[in-house]
Amino acid sequence: MQSSDSAEIDDLVVPLVSFRRDIHANPELAYEEHRTANKIEEALRELGLEAHPGIGGTGVVASLKVGSSDRTIGLRADMDALPIHEETGLPYASRNPGVFHGCGHDGHVSMLLGAAQHLAHTRRFDGTVHFIFQPAEEGRAGARAMIEDGLFERFPCDRMFAFHNWPDLPAGTISTRPGPIMAAADKFEILVEGRGGHAAMPHQTPDAILAASDLVTQLNSLVSRRISPMSTAVLSVTQIEGGTSHNVLPAAVCVVGTVRTFDAVVQDRIEESLRQVAEGVAVASGTRVTVNYNRYYPATINNAEAAEEALTAAAGVAHAELAPQPAFTSEDFGFMLQACEGAYIWLGQGRGNEEIPLHHPRYDFNDDVLATGIRLHVALVERHLVS
Ligand SMILES: [Zn+2]
Ligand SMILES: [Zn+2]
Repeated sequence: MQSSDSAEIDDLVVPLVSFRRDIHANPELAYEEHRTANKIEEALRELGLEAHPGIGGTGVVASLKVGSSDRTIGLRADMDALPIHEETGLPYASRNPGVFHGCGHDGHVSMLLGAAQHLAHTRRFDGTVHFIFQPAEEGRAGARAMIEDGLFERFPCDRMFAFHNWPDLPAGTISTRPGPIMAAADKFEILVEGRGGHAAMPHQTPDAILAASDLVTQLNSLVSRRISPMSTAVLSVTQIEGGTSHNVLPAAVCVVGTVRTFDAVVQDRIEESLRQVAEGVAVASGTRVTVNYNRYYPATINNAEAAEEALTAAAGVAHAELAPQPAFTSEDFGFMLQACEGAYIWLGQGRGNEEIPLHHPRYDFNDDVLATGIRLHVALVERHLVS
C-alpha cells in the first residue's frame, strides 16, 4: 500500500514541478493573485471539486468530503509573492519585474494542490478536508481577511495545519513544536517634531535629530532593562529619516522599527515602555513626539495536541524533529490559530550546502521536497480523519 502510494505521489510530482515553475515565473503581490487563483481554481475543477473564489479578496477554498463523519480539517497554503527583484538567473525566473516568489509560496500552492489530487483519488479518510489557498501573507494579513470574510463559518475546521518551507532544516526533515512557533510582529513609527531652524543657532529650536538619536539609544536598551531576562523579545530600529541640508535643523525626524514577542504580557510591557521612553525624550528635548504602534500579526501559537499529531504524521513520511525553539519571524497563520486549534509546521528544504535564506533575491523553492510536502498533507488528513 505504502509503496504504491509513494509511486502515485512521485507521478504527481513531474507535472507539479512545471506547475510550480509557471507560478514562479508569474508571481503576484498581495491581493493581486488573480492569475494564481485562476490556475488553482482550474486545477481544482479538473479534480471535480467546487472551487469557491474571492474569499478575503483573492482567496480560494475547495472542500472534499468522504464518508459520513462530521469531522473536518483545514490545510492552508499562501499564494503571494514579494516586492523583490529576482536575481536567480533561472530559466523560469520572474517575468514580472520587481515581483518575486522569494518565500516559496509557489511551492506551498503546488504541494497543497498535489495533496488535493492525491486525496481526491485515494479517498482513504472519513470527514471533510478544506483546501484553503490564502492571499497576502507577506505583511498584508490575508489570513485575517479570509476569516473576516466568513472562512470558518462557511468552512468550519476542527483542525488547521499549514507549513512553510524552511531552508535552515535539511530536506527530508519536518519540525514543529507545541506552544509558540513564530513571533508576534509589531511596527512602530515615532515622529519627533521640533520647529526647524538654522544649524548655527541651535539654541533657538528644539533639535529633532538629537532627540531622535537619544530615542534610538534608549529604545535599544528597552528589552534588556524593562523585560525579564527569562522572557524573549526583539526590538530593532530599522529606519530613521530627517533633514535635507548640512546647515538646516530639520523640523521633523521619523524613527521606524519592529518588535517581536511570543507573549502578550511582554508585548504589552514593550509598547507601554516605548511610549514612556518617547514621552521622556519629548520632555527632555522640548520636541513633540507622536507614537504610532501597530500590532499587525499575533504570535503563532501551536495547540499542543495538534503539534503532537503533526509530529506523528511527519514521522511516517520523513525525519520528524521537535523544534527546540520558536523563530522570531512572523506569520499571519497566527490569526487562524486564534480561531481554530492547529499547528504550523516547518518543512526542511536545505540542499546541504550554503543555504540561501527566505526573502533573498537568489532564493528558490526546492522542488525535491514537493513529494515530502504532499505526503505530509496526506498523512495529516488520514490521521485526523481516520476512517
Ligand atoms: Zn515571507
Ligand atoms: Zn512565507
